[in-house]
Amino acid sequence: MNTKRPDRKAYLVGGGIASLAAAVYLIRDGGWRGNDIRILEEATFGGSLDAGGSAALGYSMRGSRMYGPAYVLMYELLSRIPSLDDPAKSVTQDTLEFWTEAPWDDHARLVERGRIVDAASFGLSDKNRVDLIGLMMRGEAALGARRIDECFGADFFGTRFWLMWCSMFGFETWHSAAELRRYLLRFLRLFPDLPTLKIIQSTRYNARDSIVRPIMRWLEQQGVQFDSGVQVTDLTFEARADGRKAVRRISARRQGADADIEVAPDDFVIVTLGSITADSSLGSMDASPPPPQRRSGAWALWERLAAQDAAFGRPGAFCGDIERTKWVTFTVTHADDRFVRRMRALSGSAPGRGGLVTLADSSWRLTFHFFHLPAYPDQPPDTHVWWGYGLFADRAGDFVGKTMPECSGREILTELYSHLGWQDDLPTLLEGANCVPCLLPYTTSQFMPRSPGDRPPVVPPGTANLAFVGQYCEIPDNVVYTVEYSIHAAALAVASLLGAPGMVPPAYQGLDHPHALVGAIRRVLE
Ligand SMILES: Cc1cc2nc3c(=O)[nH]c(=O)nc-3n(C[C@H](O)[C@H](O)[C@H](O)COP(=O)(O)OP(=O)(O)OC[C@H]3O[C@@H](n4cnc5c(N)ncnc54)[C@H](O)[C@@H]3O)c2cc1C
Repeated sequence: MNTKRPDRKAYLVGGGIASLAAAVYLIRDGGWRGNDIRILEEATFGGSLDAGGSAALGYSMRGSRMYGPAYVLMYELLSRIPSLDDPAKSVTQDTLEFWTEAPWDDHARLVERGRIVDAASFGLSDKNRVDLIGLMMRGEAALGARRIDECFGADFFGTRFWLMWCSMFGFETWHSAAELRRYLLRFLRLFPDLPTLKIIQSTRYNARDSIVRPIMRWLEQQGVQFDSGVQVTDLTFEARADGRKAVRRISARRQGADADIEVAPDDFVIVTLGSITADSSLGSMDASPPPPQRRSGAWALWERLAAQDAAFGRPGAFCGDIERTKWVTFTVTHADDRFVRRMRALSGSAPGRGGLVTLADSSWRLTFHFFHLPAYPDQPPDTHVWWGYGLFADRAGDFVGKTMPECSGREILTELYSHLGWQDDLPTLLEGANCVPCLLPYTTSQFMPRSPGDRPPVVPPGTANLAFVGQYCEIPDNVVYTVEYSIHAAALAVASLLGAPGMVPPAYQGLDHPHALVGAIRRVLE
C-alpha cells in the first residue's frame, strides 16, 4: 500500500455518501489525517440522502430507503460509526436492532380499487417463467443495450411479479435489461419475501439522520474539511513522465467567483460523476414543483470531462432524455391520524411495519409507505409522515386528469385517496395533510440502456491520481440504484489510489448462495 506523505491531500468532489465513505476509508484504511481531506459540495452534504422540513411546515425527502442483508459494505462501513442517539452502539448495530424491533411484514403489497390483491401467487405464465430465468442465465455482454421490454412479452408487465418488482426497485419497461438481470441475481433471496418484504431493513430514522449525520460527525471529529457552496466545473490534467496524466487543477466557482484549487501530482482527486437528484425542485400542498432547470454542476462536470477523454464515459446515455428518467416523489405530513387509522384498517399494519403499498391499477402506478414513528428525531408523537412516488409520472391521473409534474400536493393526495375509494371523505382526509411533491429529472437515469464504455471504470485508464465514484462508474455485478453501490465505488477508489485494489471484496452475488437460488427458482415456478 502507498504510504501517505505528510503533505499529500485528497480532494473529494461531491458530498454524497460516495465521498463520505471515501473519506472514512482514507482515514480508517489509509491512515490519512482528516485535515488533509477536503470535500467540495455545491448543495447539501449527504446528496441524495436528504431529509428536511419540520412538523409545522411539512417534512420532505427526495427518496426513502430500503436496505437488506446484501448491503455488505454499507454495514461494514457503518459498524465503525457511532450512532448519534447512543455512541456506545454503531449505526449498524442500531439499524439491525431496529429491524428486529420493527420488521416489515406487508399484508397489502398490491391494492386495487381499495381492496388488497392476493400477491402470494406471482401470476407468471410458463413463457414468463422461461423468459425470466433465461434473462438471469444470459451473459451481460450478450444483452448489450437491450431494453427490458425487448426481453419479455407484453403480458409479463401485467403480472403481480412485475408489479411488485418494478415498483420496489423503480424499473420502467424501457430500462436496461442488463441492469434488471443484475437486480434479479442480487436479490434472489428476496423472491420468497416479495409480497411481505420481511427481508427488507430500514434505518431507525430517515437516511440523513441515521446515516449521513453520524458519518459527518465522525469525519468532523477527525478534522475533515467540509467545503459547501462550491461548484466544481472542470479538471485540468498534466502529462507525467510515465505516460499517465495527473489532475493539476480543480476549476471551481463559489458564489459566482473563481475558487480554483491547485493540485499536487501526488494528491488524490475523487470525483462523484452525475447525480440522480440533480436539479430537483419542490412544490407544496397548493403548487406543483417548478419545471427542471439545468443549474447543478453534476452533469456539466461529467460532460466537460467526457469531452476531454473517451475513457471518462458518455454521460449523454444517462442524462440525455429526462422525459424517460424523471419521477415525482412526495412526502406527506399529517397533524392527525385520520389517514393512518384508515390505512391501518385496510392493511392490518401499524405505521412502519407494513412496507410498500402499490396501487396496482393507478395510471401513475403509485407506491407509498408509512414511516415508523418517529422518522425524524424531532417529529412530535401525534404527527405522521409517509412517502410515495409514481412510476409513470407523465400519464394523466385517473381522477385528477393531470400528469404528476403538473400536480400540487393536494391533487396528488386527491388521486391517491380516490384510488383507495375514499372520494367521499376527501375534505376530511385533506384537512391537516401537507403533501410536498418533488420533481426529480434524473432519478432513473442510472437504469437507462447502456453500452460498454458509457460508464467509466472507477480508476480511468491512463490517469495517475484520479478516481470516479457514485452511480455512473462501472462496478462489475453490482446494482446501481443503491447506497451499497456508491460505497463500493468509494472502497474501490481509495484502495486503488492507495495501491491495494485487492483489498475490496467483489460485489455480493446471489448466485454464490445456492439456497437463495433454489428458493427463488422454486418461488418463480409455483
Ligand atoms: C427516490 C430515491 C429512492 C432511493 N431508494 C433507495 C433505496 O431504497 N435503497 C438504496 O440503497 N438506495 C436508494 N436510493 C439511491 C441512493 O440514495 C443513491 O444511490 C445514493 O445516495 C447516491 O449517492 P452518491 O454519493 O453516489 O451520489 P449523490 O447522492 O447524487 O451525491 C452526489 C453529490 O455530489 C454533488 N456534486 C456532484 N457534482 C458536483 C460538482 N461538480 N460540484 C460540486 N458538487 C457536486 C451533488 O450536489 C451531490 O450532493 C434512492 C434514491 C432516490 C432518489
